[in-house]
Amino acid sequence: MTRLFRWLRKRLFGTQELGISKVRYVETHTAIRRLIEDDCMVVVGTPLYPKWGVFMCPCRRGHRIELNLQRHLEPHWQLSVRGSRPTVQPSVDHQGAYRCHFRLIDGLVRWVED
Ligand SMILES: [Zn+2]
Repeated sequence: MTRLFRWLRKRLFGTQELGISKVRYVETHTAIRRLIEDDCMVVVGTPLYPKWGVFMCPCRRGHRIELNLQRHLEPHWQLSVRGSRPTVQPSVDHQGAYRCHFRLIDGLVRWVED
């Protein structure tokens, strides 16, 4: 099933697709619920002190990705925003009900084949 899904995804989108084209900043985690859209990353904190980056996984199966952006906590990701397009490093490797491994560079999603 997973293999079929990946094959379909590749056929439909290629290896690179537009994932996130907006970044919004909120003060607290509780403000996220009503703000989250498929193409938007909601950052808890400020551009100077981002704490969490939250967005819907670009696989579009409806699960959320939450990345810690605070350096004193592990694991953490580094966020940079150019225009309104986010880049996070290192890659995002979500392992829940699904495994979703991708790089997010300038808002573009590049799926990592494992
Ligand atoms: Zn996913």
